[in-house]
Amino acid sequence: MGIIRDRQQVLDVYADAAQRGWVLAGFNTENLTTTEAILSGAVEVAQGIGCADLPIVIGLTNLYPQRPQAVNYTHTRCWETGLKLFLADIEALLGPGSAFADLKVLIHLDHIRPDIDRDLLGWDMGRFSSIMYDASSRPIDQNIAATAAFVQEHRDEIVIEGACGEIADPLGQVKPEPTTPDAAERFWRETGVDLVVADLGTQHRAAAAELEYHGEVPRQITERIGPRLVLHGASSIRPEQISNLFADGVRKVNIWTALERDATLALLRDMLTNAAKLVGPEQARQLAADGLLGEAADTKSPASVSHFTTHYRRELVFGRMKKIVADYLQLLYV
Ligand SMILES: [Zn+2]
Repeated sequence: MGIIRDRQQVLDVYADAAQRGWVLAGFNTENLTTTEAILSGAVEVAQGIGCADLPIVIGLTNLYPQRPQAVNYTHTRCWETGLKLFLADIEALLGPGSAFADLKVLIHLDHIRPDIDRDLLGWDMGRFSSIMYDASSRPIDQNIAATAAFVQEHRDEIVIEGACGEIADPLGQVKPEPTTPDAAERFWRETGVDLVVADLGTQHRAAAAELEYHGEVPRQITERIGPRLVLHGASSIRPEQISNLFADGVRKVNIWTALERDATLALLRDMLTNAAKLVGPEQARQLAADGLLGEAADTKSPASVSHFTTHYRRELVFGRMKKIVADYLQLLYV
């Protein structure tokens, strides 16, 4: 197994997952720690359920303004450097003797926009397993024309997700309505994409409590176009809703926010608890005097290399992210 890039083999992974009643899990990353956590969480679940070749999608956005993840991958702020490192990281992690070698790993380009990602779109698409071609910021007719042209050119090289509707963003000006079945059907027929990203009521980076995933919308769309929906903003839906996704015709989910959001809480809590080990007793007492540390915080221990390093912070983030990945996989692969 390992990285699967061949278009037909990628489609086979989707077909095989559907056979099992699984919604494929797609996690995005913007650093090596997250990439490793995704693979480690997947291996843990693979062993737990006795399915060594578990499928997993690892993706990243490029210049997507809401979150340019290839840019964020390094401090150079250069997308090309970030994207090359992302690919190199996965290839190295899945190299000979790798603990992850049995997984079926799909490499996904997410929210690739024709207007700003033109240089990347000139790359050999065969280096990736799938792409979300995102022209959804354009009026629907232009979106369909651009997406259809991309499909025409690359349909033999890569599995293509098209974006029928814009996904809402709490910071954005646009507050789109959920995609209608008519719009989804027209988009799918006229573009020829393999998978359709529709607005199903979720949002990027939203708080779960305020959101409603509209189960009847994907069911109505699926009646028209078959089960080929991709759900973005999955961090914003409640765990009990995830178990309905397969029946609603969703075949892949994209998850990112939950990884970073929940890992940060774990990191902050551990850093506060062990404050003196991170910064030494003098600084810890100063932080307490400033009202930033409470009574439960350690203000006495000497500073320790086990705590004041980037390695410590990465380990904590990694451990928490791995757990989140495993928890999602246990919901999606049942
Ligand atoms: Zn998205």
